[in-house]
Amino acid sequence: MKSYNKSQELYSKGLTHMVGSVNSPVRAFKSVGGNPLFIKNAKGSKIYDVDGNEYIDLVLSYGPMILGHGNDKVIEAVTKQVYQGFSFGASTENEIILSELICSVFNGMDKIRFVNSGTEATMSAIRLARAFTGKNKIIKFSGCYHGHGDSLLVAAGSGMVTYSLPGSAGVPENAVKDTLIAEYNNIESVKTHLSKHDDIAAVFIEPVAGNMGVVIPSDTFIKELRKITHEAGVLLVVDEVMTGFRSKFGGAQDILGIQADITCLGKVIGGGFPVGAYGARSEIMNLVSPLGNMYQAGTLSGNPVAMAAGIATLTELCEQNPYQKFNTQAEQLEKIMLDSARENNIEITVNRFGSMINPFFSKKTVTNFSDAQECDTSQFTSFFWSLLENGIYIPPSQFEAWFLSTTISDDDMNILENGIRKAMKSIRK
Ligand SMILES: *Cc1c(COP(=O)(O)O)cnc(C)c1O
Repeated sequence: MKSYNKSQELYSKGLTHMVGSVNSPVRAFKSVGGNPLFIKNAKGSKIYDVDGNEYIDLVLSYGPMILGHGNDKVIEAVTKQVYQGFSFGASTENEIILSELICSVFNGMDKIRFVNSGTEATMSAIRLARAFTGKNKIIKFSGCYHGHGDSLLVAAGSGMVTYSLPGSAGVPENAVKDTLIAEYNNIESVKTHLSKHDDIAAVFIEPVAGNMGVVIPSDTFIKELRKITHEAGVLLVVDEVMTGFRSKFGGAQDILGIQADITCLGKVIGGGFPVGAYGARSEIMNLVSPLGNMYQAGTLSGNPVAMAAGIATLTELCEQNPYQKFNTQAEQLEKIMLDSARENNIEITVNRFGSMINPFFSKKTVTNFSDAQECDTSQFTSFFWSLLENGIYIPPSQFEAWFLSTTISDDDMNILENGIRKAMKSIRK
């Protein structure tokens, strides 16, 4: 048995001045009935807790660390920038370089604005969609998470579903009265809203959902969604905070054959530093201040260190082009999970897209939020703890995607296979 004593000690100590001893609720182990690990360091595919336990990291900071931890090129770029200065409150050439890198691979994205988090990106995208259309309402899909902004914090995934919260305390009714909820993969649910309301500014969607576990849109659903929003003069805001640069060098929207009106980014484009962004065609972006009258600002936006990390990460990703390898490894993991589940009489279904994957403890195919919620979360809990014991760190929730990094080696794949097989056996019925 691994010892988690030091994590336990720090957790208790942290409770005094930190809410639940975490700075983001998804990090708490509440839903799997335990206390969170405290991490000391990480390198490549591995992460180490304060007790010295080693794990293959499939959390990857919930997405950003696609190159694994401590990539040499990123360290070099960040270090160089640190010596040149941390923050200036003025433009730098690196902001131009990162904007070029990103705009060149998203069709229809002429301009981009950098912010500090995915939440800021989606909050700004709402304001921009409203400014552009002169309309108020937005449609979002149940189970999709778009950060913790008031008006998007309804029927949201990630921590909201992990802790079964219908909405958040402190969000005024007025803030959500213009938010309409549709069902993922159900185009009729969108059409109904569109036919009933003429005041809709935008539809927000995760192009591949990752915050209720991985849920893939059907080809007809996503294409139809693009078509009907276009016809209705409603902007399609594609939230690629998680999916951006994960499944190809660019966005999931490209793989799915759609083009967003506004794209939100975050996570990977900051390589582990706080970055978010929203981008669109000039006609839309020119409404943003200082060119237009939609106000949005940030003291640390486009932070030089974060930009350096982002450029180095994307440059390295482009060179390594790991996307075929991601597919192969995810396919192997899927097979290992399905085989070992079957051998132990456990019913699971596995969803994956590029380097995003996770099993659902359910025999049903999972295509929307209510399917996801039918999972046997107690089985997930046992599976989680057994994986941890076997040196595999996954998110402490049934409703989060696992991620692959470019540093996963054949040896790591063997560790993953052994750990998964043992974990499935340990929860055998
Ligand atoms: C993580 C995430 C966000 C929020 O990003 P933060 O940086 O945590 O604010 C928004 N949308 C999606 C799809 C995400 O996965």
